[in-house]
Amino acid sequence: MQATFVWFIIGTTCIVQSSTAYFGYKKRQQHVWPRKFKECGGKMQSPITLSTSKSIALPLPALEMVGFHDFLPHPLTLINNGHSVALNVVKNSTHRRLPYIFGAMLNENQQYELEGLHFHWGNKNNRGSEHVLNDIRYSMEMHIIHRNIAYSNMEHASAHADGLVVLGIFFQVQDSDNDMINPILKYLPSIQWINTGMTRFRMLSNGEDKLGDNFRKLQNIGRRKVYVRNVAGSKIDLVDLNFTNFIWFDE
Ligand SMILES: [Zn+2]
Repeated sequence: MQATFVWFIIGTTCIVQSSTAYFGYKKRQQHVWPRKFKECGGKMQSPITLSTSKSIALPLPALEMVGFHDFLPHPLTLINNGHSVALNVVKNSTHRRLPYIFGAMLNENQQYELEGLHFHWGNKNNRGSEHVLNDIRYSMEMHIIHRNIAYSNMEHASAHADGLVVLGIFFQVQDSDNDMINPILKYLPSIQWINTGMTRFRMLSNGEDKLGDNFRKLQNIGRRKVYVRNVAGSKIDLVDLNFTNFIWFDE
């Protein structure tokens, strides 16, 4: 698995914490999301199609990521929640602070702290990501969820337009191994339902079916604008992230 480091900031997203049966990715299940979960309705939904040529290029400041390799509390836990594989940061009083981001298009003087991450992937190589970039749907997309530290918790933050920021990263299945994702794949067997190969995510189950194709259908972009940073050196990569201390278990 090869990561394609395309970072994008999703301002608003439909993050459903519940494990209710209504929250499934089958067409008929997605259809009822806006009725069942108010955060999944409206005109600001993701995913959308991203197009380089249709984006507005601006000399934006870099997105700054602080503490992603030294502020992470341990142990970290990765959970098969039936919809995805998710990491939720468990907060306790002993850590100094959690990794956070600022800069880029985010409001000045605002910091967003890591809350967790999860993955969307396909049952075939030609699908899996939620967003589509320049007509390409990647094999997998990781979402890293951050909460504006001005709000004390996720519930509070979700109620505000500037409450949450999600970073997306695309992954493409390729022949060569990926040093960043391999430590995660190594621990997948301890969840269960696992086999070998690069496609290990595809062997996970939600208890009834194979867990996969857990991406939402594309949403209308409406009047929203997409911005792209056009200065040199904007590439940010995750090679310094240390995933080796994860502990995996299933729920
Ligand atoms: Zn997601």
